[in-house]
Amino acid sequence: MIGVEIDGRSAQAPEGTTVLLAAAAAGLPLTGNVGCMGQGVCGACRALVRRDGAATAETVLACETRAEDGMRVSFLDRFTLPRQAPYDETALADGWAAYERMLELFPNAQNCRHCSGCDRACPKGLSVQTGVMQATSGDFGAAAETFALCVMCNLCAAACPESIAPNHVGLFARRALAASQRPTDLIRRLHQIVTGAMAVETTP
Ligand code: SF4
Ligand code: SF4
Repeated sequence: MIGVEIDGRSAQAPEGTTVLLAAAAAGLPLTGNVGCMGQGVCGACRALVRRDGAATAETVLACETRAEDGMRVSFLDRFTLPRQAPYDETALADGWAAYERMLELFPNAQNCRHCSGCDRACPKGLSVQTGVMQATSGDFGAAAETFALCVMCNLCAAACPESIAPNHVGLFARRALAASQRPTDLIRRLHQIVTGAMAVETTP
């Protein structure tokens, strides 16, 4: 067994367990910081951990991090960004307009200080500032790839001194790329319908 402190509560947990399961073992209510329960895809279990003897804390996903003896953990509550950037996803298919739209929605993205705060904050280890640069240079394909494993935990947004919301820049790039690349099976099926190869009943 190992001893950990989670949100100020001391707990014992089996060695090798994750921080999230250690919290459960400690009897903490898993209500606010859980989503996918261990899949590492939702970003809800964001936490600040300080390992025994470490001088600094780091941000992690509790479901993907092994609990260590002497580790201190604080879960980070869900928070919304002070500035929202709403847009119509269906209007992103025009690549030219999409780039201009991104610059309108995220004007600060071009003011990146390259401070690496977002990179350090990212529990998925993504090259966040590189992704922002790729998006602002119009390379949505590269940016979408860089942000492919983003779980929208918002930690990079919290860390950014320019309020860029890097993860939302990345999400925009991913959506713009998807909008410009229609699924090939859909294209094929539409062709079958248009050419009459597939009959479709249109009346109720
Ligand atoms: S890019 Fe930002 S929102 Fe996405 S996983 Fe990393 S820190 Fe979280
Ligand atoms: S935290 Fe913000 S300003 Fe700093 S490198 Fe990342 S995107 Fe740029």
